Amino acid sequence: MEKSVVSVVRVGADVESAVRRAIELAGGLDGLIGPESRVLIKPNICSRDRSGTGKITDARITGAVTKIILERKPSRVVIGEGSAVGYDFPDLQDTMMALEESGTKAEAERLGVPVVDLNRDSHREVEIPGALAMKTVKIASTVLESDVIISIPVMKTHIRSAITLSLKNMKGVMPGGEKRKTHQLGLELAIADLNTAVKPHFTVVDGLVGMEGLWEYPDDCVRPGLVGASRDPVALDSVFARIMGVEVREVMHLQYCQEKGLGIADPERIEVCGEAISEVRRPFRPAFEAVKSRYPGLAVLGEKACTGCTNEFISTLIYIRLAQQVDRLSGLTVVLGEAPEVLPAEKAVAIGKCAQRLEGRFPFVPGCPPGVDEITRKVCEVCHIDIRLVLQKREELHRTIAGKAMRESI
Ligand code: SF4
Repeated sequence: MEKSVVSVVRVGADVESAVRRAIELAGGLDGLIGPESRVLIKPNICSRDRSGTGKITDARITGAVTKIILERKPSRVVIGEGSAVGYDFPDLQDTMMALEESGTKAEAERLGVPVVDLNRDSHREVEIPGALAMKTVKIASTVLESDVIISIPVMKTHIRSAITLSLKNMKGVMPGGEKRKTHQLGLELAIADLNTAVKPHFTVVDGLVGMEGLWEYPDDCVRPGLVGASRDPVALDSVFARIMGVEVREVMHLQYCQEKGLGIADPERIEVCGEAISEVRRPFRPAFEAVKSRYPGLAVLGEKACTGCTNEFISTLIYIRLAQQVDRLSGLTVVLGEAPEVLPAEKAVAIGKCAQRLEGRFPFVPGCPPGVDEITRKVCEVCHIDIRLVLQKREELHRTIAGKAMRESI
């Protein structure tokens, strides 16, 4: 029985040598990248965060992978990303700002490689053969013009898809608002369809620092200190799901991808090289468990929301918690994403365009996604929380987070 190979390597002081070893153990890049190759390197820079927070791919991993690829002298190498929904407003926040804040842009400049904002790239509509949910998808031109795609996800659990690793990282190749489609059509089906159109040829996963729970920094930081690699993104995601304590059979997009023949999710058909899973396994805390314990009395209906609204709302929760006002959230129901027809709640806030059907019946925050300040103001208003106190804590957090993240990542 032919098996997919996935490497798992512990990272010491020398990040680059760990990345090199992970790539070699996974079969290396021979036959994949040659002088004619046009290579796209796709880290996960979904939001404006620093390397070392675990929210985005660490720039040191992206830098090491880029350097190793450049040694093969391919005809073109670019680092491309299209950050999450809401990151296509250059005067407010966009992918370039996220690439800069993460340190990825500086790494690219050091290595002489261009960075591309895939959210604002030109694009083409691509048909998806055997689509489960998404018959066509718009893909950024830079991606379609590349013949080798290297995915560099960061190890995280996810509120809607259980995990976000190599396969979900491909969402960044969809320009701007096209990403919303994946949530409207069913995220896990759409991930399988997207990877039918654009599947990574090689993956290097950043497991230096990851995120569990609600991705609240620093409470939800996990430090596995690992890197891994594989030519099979489904197998890589399967192995790193198990390291995070997530049952592979419960991750629907892994099952769909395996059924579509995109790779192997079945642990019996995967060979793990380097560290054994049992040696490095560290269960990550699921998101809804964190909501329940951290915000008792708060109900969140967010099954159909995408990361746009979810991330903004989680930021609001962080600010309210820092202001020590969590008690006041008790009894509140928050609706993110498509709203139910009937909402048996006395105190509720509906957030985002998808929840608009509740407008007029409950306090509503428009936008797609709405800005975190608007969400914070509305939640504070409904829960009688002093908004000035919350905004003050937000400012304090933003002043300290950068330095702290960098110190802890070293
Ligand atoms: S309104 Fe929110 S959940 Fe709906 S598509 Fe926009 S960002 Fe996503």
